[in-house]
Amino acid sequence: MGKLDGRVVVITGAARGQGEQEARLFAAEGARVLLGDVLDEQGEKVAKELGPDRARYVHLDVSREEDWTAAVAAAKDAFGGRIDGLVNNAGILRFNELTATPLEEFQQLIQVNQVGAFLGIKHVAPEIAAAGGGTIVNTSSYTGLTGMAYVGSYAATKAAIVGLTRVAALELAAKGIRVNAMCPGAVDTPMANPALLDPDGPSEEATAAMAELYKRVVPLGRAGLPAEVARLALFLSSEDSSYITGQPFVIDGGWMAGVSVL
Ligand code: NAD
Repeated sequence: MGKLDGRVVVITGAARGQGEQEARLFAAEGARVLLGDVLDEQGEKVAKELGPDRARYVHLDVSREEDWTAAVAAAKDAFGGRIDGLVNNAGILRFNELTATPLEEFQQLIQVNQVGAFLGIKHVAPEIAAAGGGTIVNTSSYTGLTGMAYVGSYAATKAAIVGLTRVAALELAAKGIRVNAMCPGAVDTPMANPALLDPDGPSEEATAAMAELYKRVVPLGRAGLPAEVARLALFLSSEDSSYITGQPFVIDGGWMAGVSVL
């Protein structure tokens, strides 16, 4: 028995990184998964590996409302007319001092990270309600709960996700939908470690520099793995978390627990 047997789950940003691992784990736990992303070739590849009975890919730019309408229709069409869960995972990060941040950049992050999650809830929650209830997992960040210099536009959107999560949980509880948020620290994906995108893989120097950084600042001594975040998403999407809603969950190797480097 899988923890998600019979459930249909939409996962955004599922072509790589955490979203890909969530899609793979959810499928292994019995779910049928609609993967959405803007990286079509990679997303198609992941869905193909999982097989058509388990997974389908659609082009879903989370900031475009018409893409959400099409994605909901595609999920229902592919998997028996129902949707039971959503993981709002898609996101982008930019580094900049606040006073040097172009307005367009600030607005772009709001569009993808914040509006994207809002549109997901708006379009998928009614389907989950119609299926008798289910779960929504939003992806915030530890920067949604505490400060981090040079990621002002990103942190603002991730704090917004926590607020959105709480309100959605309150409004959707009566419809049998639980809504929670994950707040990862540093996770070893292309977002936190762009060297992973090098065609030959990250250089030894890049890998050593990242390892040294996290050894110093993260109490558990390393960055998290996308598969570890996927296990939290699974917990929050399964009956294991049946009495939990409206909460942000930190998964950060202890980074936010307090000062560990003097
Ligand atoms: P990633 O960059 O590997 O993956 C992000 C995915 O989102 C990519 O596949 C990308 O194509 C997709 N995406 C970007 N814009 C999109 C759009 N408009 N519509 C649909 N898909 C889009 O990074 P990741 O680490 O896997 O990030 C997943 C989530 O976790 C993000 O919300 C990110 O903010 C959050 N997060 C990441 C970290 C980290 O350290 N990696 C830490 C905290 C939170």
